[in-house]
Amino acid sequence: MRALTLERGPVAELTIIVCDVCAKPAEERITFRVRGRSLQKDLCREHIGELVTGARAVKRGRPPTFGGREAPESKRRGGPLGRKRPKQARPKRAAPVAPASTQ
Ligand SMILES: [Zn+2]
Repeated sequence: MRALTLERGPVAELTIIVCDVCAKPAEERITFRVRGRSLQKDLCREHIGELVTGARAVKRGRPPTFGGREAPESKRRGGPLGRKRPKQARPKRAAPVAPASTQ
């Protein structure tokens, strides 16, 4: 009797991520938002460089308004941050209602 050891070589299941543009080995997966959708793309060094050209770091704060339309400032006043205390309807003690003099 002999134990049969099946020895397979290292499983060649290495997933290579390729650039979504040119199918070269990708270097990074980037995510971005376009028209309200979050998308991702695997890009090679070359195409990352292309993407980054003209790009800038995201700044904190209010995003600029695109399209030339001004944000309605008046509507932003008294937003959820302005008012800390939620308006609560406090139940008033029911005053004993004296039967109104019917006269
Ligand atoms: Zn590429």
